[in-house]
Amino acid sequence: MLHTIKKIGVLTSGGDAPGMNAAIRSVVRTCAFHDIKCYGIYRGYEGMIDGDFVEMDARSVKGIINKGGTMLKSARSKDFRTKEGRAKAYEQLRKAGIDAFVVIGGDGSFTGAMIFNKEYNFPVMGIPGTIDNDIFGTTHTLGYDTALNTVVEVIDKIRDTASSHNRLFFIEVMGRDVGHIALNVGIGAGAEEILIPEEDLGLDRLLESLRRSKQSGKSSSIVIVAEGDKIGKSVFELKDYVEENMSEYEVRVSVLGHMQRGGAPSCFDRVLASRMGVKAVESLITGKSSYMVGMKNDVMDLTPFDQAVKGKSKINKELLRVSDIMSI
Ligand code: ATP
Repeated sequence: MLHTIKKIGVLTSGGDAPGMNAAIRSVVRTCAFHDIKCYGIYRGYEGMIDGDFVEMDARSVKGIINKGGTMLKSARSKDFRTKEGRAKAYEQLRKAGIDAFVVIGGDGSFTGAMIFNKEYNFPVMGIPGTIDNDIFGTTHTLGYDTALNTVVEVIDKIRDTASSHNRLFFIEVMGRDVGHIALNVGIGAGAEEILIPEEDLGLDRLLESLRRSKQSGKSSSIVIVAEGDKIGKSVFELKDYVEENMSEYEVRVSVLGHMQRGGAPSCFDRVLASRMGVKAVESLITGKSSYMVGMKNDVMDLTPFDQAVKGKSKINKELLRVSDIMSI
């Protein structure tokens, strides 16, 4: 392996996701394994601009693999979007002797890294950390699997109330642009309908489906609504619409919100984070730059940042059919 890189920085940027700590741990330990110094960069690009760096060794990441959130903190930095802000960040990295960095975040964070790489020819590598799984170039982003498990557990609990009172529940889950969470938890928790940004079910079909479900003897129903569902109504507007048209149902709404992002990462996310960290550091030290690490067919893979940022992560249409069949 080429050993021109001597010091690697690692930061978390954008929204936090379970598994980010496990990825930090992996980057730090892979650096230690290859005799490369590693620096934690606090508060995303904001901390990069301020020079908020701390040297980390293999022991400084003990006890974090099972923790949600990010020990390095995360931030959204307006200054990094400007040339002047990035110039300051470059100066701080140069002063600290940092040769390359790994950014754990979403497509915005990768866009920033890509621009920085172009401006300063600075080696950068990305690890996708976001619960929405909305990034092209990987079948799973960090935190997605944990979020699915968290949400399914909560829906199971809501189901207890729904069935005790013969109620219809609309449950809003995260997913502004893609319906991965909604579709998977909908199948996993046995929802009657799933509304996602990719498919317009239409209000008439929704009512028809709920009527069918009632006639078939179901005492309660759960409809999963992704934040950005294509019908274009908020979950509260959907509730009003259904109550106006189906007086037989008592409708309740539950918006799950930020709890979906928290909690200890699942085993899957811990393993994925560990694999991604190794791949990111080893790619940098073999001279690669401006790529996102991803997983395809259970193999670690690299996707150029521009493709990762521009590409669309698509839902699996087979799941739509499975969901239809299961809700008979
Ligand atoms: P999430 O999926 O949680 O939204 P994200 O990485 O997409 O994560 P953003 O807020 O979009 O989150 O981006 C994180 C940070 O990356 C921004 O605060 C900003 O500092 C930097 N960034 C985003 N877009 C750009 C850009 N076009 N130029 C420079 N920096 C950018």
